[in-house]
Amino acid sequence: MSDLIRPQIKALSAYHVADAGSMIKLDAMENPYHLPEQLIAQWLQKMAQAELNRYPDPQATVLRDALRSYMQVPDGQALILGNGSDELIQMMAMAVAQPGRAILAPEPGFVMYKMIATFVGMEYIGVPLREDFSLDLPAMLAAIKQHQPALIFLAFPNNPTANLFDEPAMLEIIKTSKGLVIVDEAYHPFAGESFMSRLGQFENLLVMRTVSKMGLAGLRLGLLAGSPKWINEFDKVRLPYNINILTQISAKFALDHADVFEKQAAEIRQQRGWLLDELKKIPDLVVYPSRANFILLRLQKADANKVFESLKKNGVLIKNLDPAGGALKQCLRVTVGAPDENRAFVAALKKSL
Ligand SMILES: *Cc1c(COP(=O)(O)O)cnc(C)c1O
Repeated sequence: MSDLIRPQIKALSAYHVADAGSMIKLDAMENPYHLPEQLIAQWLQKMAQAELNRYPDPQATVLRDALRSYMQVPDGQALILGNGSDELIQMMAMAVAQPGRAILAPEPGFVMYKMIATFVGMEYIGVPLREDFSLDLPAMLAAIKQHQPALIFLAFPNNPTANLFDEPAMLEIIKTSKGLVIVDEAYHPFAGESFMSRLGQFENLLVMRTVSKMGLAGLRLGLLAGSPKWINEFDKVRLPYNINILTQISAKFALDHADVFEKQAAEIRQQRGWLLDELKKIPDLVVYPSRANFILLRLQKADANKVFESLKKNGVLIKNLDPAGGALKQCLRVTVGAPDENRAFVAALKKSL
């Protein structure tokens, strides 16, 4: 029985999430702000009406219509919801998985693309970004030609590098690929650019979003928009009732008060500017540009692991990317928090260098 578990699964380590304890938590791209107090009272009233004894609406129709309108999904394009966008990646992978089929993404990138490829027994092709973390278009096109990937993921902006890829290069990839190209817009509230309005221009283009980074990470809700030709097939591998009733009610309530979240996103973008300016004044740091709610840093002299541990001792948890190695050696990633958290981080960092 010892060979019951596939070797590919045995070789994995489970997705590790650090315990922040009482530390300032700047490791996971969460929005630092909760709902304002008077909205919490209104939200609780809605929650009190939830029929927990009944299965939720399997299509989450009310929420889906609200998301369609709020996210400006073009007419004629279909929409499917997932328990986080991670589940949507998994649904797409399950629908296309077959021996010899591959998922392709630039590297360094979001780790779930590779993990899910492994879960479903697909090959994963990581194509290195250039040194400035821009897309290496010739390398991407060559890899597409060689491997004909069923799915290509382009995170826009990219995690963990925080930059937006060049749009003409992305369009070239979409036009060249015979597989599906998923533009992952998890950081849309902070990016100012989107491929959503291009849906319909390219049959193989899909746009994925999530409410996690806009301030609702606890709900687990992602959405995928694109041609009904694909979405209707993905819907067949979706488990029934994947969006629970508390999420359906809470997310609809949040969209009814979208102005609150937009104000929070504007504050985070403003704080990102402050943080970038402060970090650029620190001599040992390379500070990469950011169009997301986090910033990638590279240490030139001090050891990243030591600085990471020292930050923790000073009560601030960020993400240490050095163990990932390769292009991320000596790199740290910090989420943009509330003003006092960002000030505490900068002070702790100066002490740690
Ligand atoms: C955080 C993140 C997601 C995950 O979204 P969930 O909806 O929370 O599962 C997806 N893509 C990228 C690039 C991310 O950084």
